[in-house]
Amino acid sequence: MFNKKSVKDIDVKGKKVLVRVDFNVPIKDGKISDDTRIRAALPTINYLIDQGAALILCSHLGRPKDEPDPAYSMKPVAEYLGELLNKKVAFAEDCIGPKAEAAAAALKPGDVLVLENTRFHKEEKKNDPEMARQLASLADVFVNDAFGSAHRAHASTEGVTKFLPSVAGFLLEKEIKYLDQAIENPKRPFVAILGGAKVSDKIGVIKNLLTKADTVLIGGGMANTFFKAQGYPVGDSLVEDDALDTARELVKEGGSKLRLPVDMVIADKFDNDAQTKIIDVGPVPDGWRILDVGPETVKNFSKVISEAGTVVWNGPMGVFEMSNFAKATFAVAKAVADSHAISIIGGGDSAAAIAQSGLADKISHISTGGGASLEMLEGIQLPGLAALMDK
Ligand code: AMP
Repeated sequence: MFNKKSVKDIDVKGKKVLVRVDFNVPIKDGKISDDTRIRAALPTINYLIDQGAALILCSHLGRPKDEPDPAYSMKPVAEYLGELLNKKVAFAEDCIGPKAEAAAAALKPGDVLVLENTRFHKEEKKNDPEMARQLASLADVFVNDAFGSAHRAHASTEGVTKFLPSVAGFLLEKEIKYLDQAIENPKRPFVAILGGAKVSDKIGVIKNLLTKADTVLIGGGMANTFFKAQGYPVGDSLVEDDALDTARELVKEGGSKLRLPVDMVIADKFDNDAQTKIIDVGPVPDGWRILDVGPETVKNFSKVISEAGTVVWNGPMGVFEMSNFAKATFAVAKAVADSHAISIIGGGDSAAAIAQSGLADKISHISTGGGASLEMLEGIQLPGLAALMDK
């Protein structure tokens, strides 16, 4: 149950409000190529403006090496937000210190300021109390709307809550409600679909979902480790030899709940133009590799999905970046969209497959946080959420 105070529970009129957003968007040559995360924060931003607050927005962007790097500046984001809001958005060249303080002091009700990348300070990721204090000193209230960063206890997500009354924004609230409902009180059957490269990244998620879901469908590169664990040679496929025991345990634990692919698309090289074959799960010839799940698997998985009450999907079924190995991922995207289930998609790749298929509006909820949604599916408390005031 969502039991945290939200922006609606506090009075922000005339106050300076520090909002942690997740504006970690892809930028190419100074242009934002996907603005989903910025748009997702607009309900909170517009609400606070309407309430007469002055907004100070902060976020990290990319992975700068703990120091200022123009390639990761928030300036283009500030400009883009100005266009979306159709109003002037100020920008401060630092997120703490004199520049940030002067820019914050100049704000009037309804004004919006974007601070420079929080990760330009190495103290951010260390959750340094002094950095958190300086950030907090800019404002009267803290709002966390950065679901995509809520699984990290950093200065701007968790540290800052020690110094200011702290509440959730609308996006954070919506994300948590959808995922919480799916995990704790799902409409059944509850079907989880997991794909992507590695089992080791998702062991905790699979374990937890085996206790919550009715069926867990496994595809993608991580299925290869299960095949090898069953004694099949996997040729040149991506495989995690140190996860073989874990895979065996999961198969034992999962019983009939855990469903693995029954066929696969194999290729003679890692290339879209490779020679390919569809084979049943079994030995992969030397020199060949598994790059997608096969059509029979897609048929089986689609049937399970069509009967679901709740579907959660994270991770592609194959190397979907290459069109010849994207078929299963797009077929699963369609099956999820066509189902009458409450559907939740997490992770950039699955969300991209849905968007490329033009099916986004048929999905109940597309999460803006891959890592954060996986941690929730794993049953881990998000530090950025736990730190907010209880209702
Ligand atoms: P993840 O970040 O763990 O969700 O993994 C996503 C990546 O898994 C994508 O880039 C896919 O290309 C990759 N992937 C999916 N299936 C396979 C496979 N059979 N072999 C190698 N990589 C795969």
